[in-house]
Amino acid sequence: MISPSSANADRVLPPLRGTAEPGARLGDFIWFRTGGPAEWLVRPADVDDLAAFLGALPPNVPVLPVGVGSNLIVRDGGVPGVVIRLPKSFGTVTVEPGNRLRAGAAAMGITAATAARDAGIAGLEFLRGIPGSIGGAVRMNAGAYGREVADTLVETTVVTRDGEVQVLPVSALGYSYRHSALAAGTVVVEAVFQGASGDPAAIGAEMDRIAAEREASQPLRSRTGGSTFKNPPGQKAWALIDAAGCRGLRQGDAQVSEKHCNFLLNLGNATAADIEALGEEVRARVKSYSGITLQWEIERVGKRG
Ligand SMILES: Cc1cc2nc3c(=O)[nH]c(=O)nc-3n(C[C@H](O)[C@H](O)[C@H](O)COP(=O)(O)OP(=O)(O)OC[C@H]3O[C@@H](n4cnc5c(N)ncnc54)[C@H](O)[C@@H]3O)c2cc1C
Repeated sequence: MISPSSANADRVLPPLRGTAEPGARLGDFIWFRTGGPAEWLVRPADVDDLAAFLGALPPNVPVLPVGVGSNLIVRDGGVPGVVIRLPKSFGTVTVEPGNRLRAGAAAMGITAATAARDAGIAGLEFLRGIPGSIGGAVRMNAGAYGREVADTLVETTVVTRDGEVQVLPVSALGYSYRHSALAAGTVVVEAVFQGASGDPAAIGAEMDRIAAEREASQPLRSRTGGSTFKNPPGQKAWALIDAAGCRGLRQGDAQVSEKHCNFLLNLGNATAADIEALGEEVRARVKSYSGITLQWEIERVGKRG
């Protein structure tokens, strides 16, 4: 067992070949750069290590996998239990016969898209524009420009909360718009994508177009969490927010982006509570103006401060 720490004197973790950090600051890496600590931040050495660790972890301990936090508000009171962050060794990308790409969950979308381009595999260009990990993309059914993970995923390897390694076909993921039915605490460790034969130059040109379009329309170099709300059927969330007069709205150091008003920003010292309260204010104003209730796309995790 790993020794208990000052962060939580009565929690003892099973053995691990990777690392377990008590009271770890998540705001150091998540995109909003704010929020409370993880009770434990665990980085497993490999899949076997993760499976053995989860298998031995008491079932009442909550487990939250995170990628790079490009779709997360971590509340100010921090995340109880174990946060799993896969290290770079889980980020290998390999090309397989039949225009398939096998990507570790810690690989970034751009890394997978670039490997597909270099191998002449078309259809994964959209991953170029999603600034998160493959694990986050599989969990969120991430998508852009008319394609989403559900369209291209063949299967994913996961470690369940009780430590079982399973290979799940895409049909088992219960995908809908920006949603999967993966059980809480299930960690995606790998994914296989199906593409089609393509010309690397044309694939690269499409990736460049996506990058340029994003640069022009999104606050990419800001502390943000991407699209805050899902697009309601047949509507654009940004347009509803704009029409309700919320562009540029502020709460403390949290602001609705002037550039793309479905993005919230941390201008510097916003707390997670500021950001979440601003989001709720936007929802209330949109509801009042248009009668439409926006649904959060950003995942909000942890305890309020
Ligand atoms: C500027 C910007 C632009 C964006 N554009 C888009 C876009 O066009 N389309 C889109 O869909 N999204 C977009 N996003 C949102 C975000 O990039 C995606 O949701 C991405 O897939 C999240 O990946 P992540 O590694 O950051 O996951 P995180 O934010 O760390 O986590 C998101 C969710 O995935 C879960 N998760 C993460 N890793 C794993 C894992 N290994 N196993 C199981 N669950 C896991 C977490 O528990 C959480 O529920 C954008 C974000 C930003 C900041």
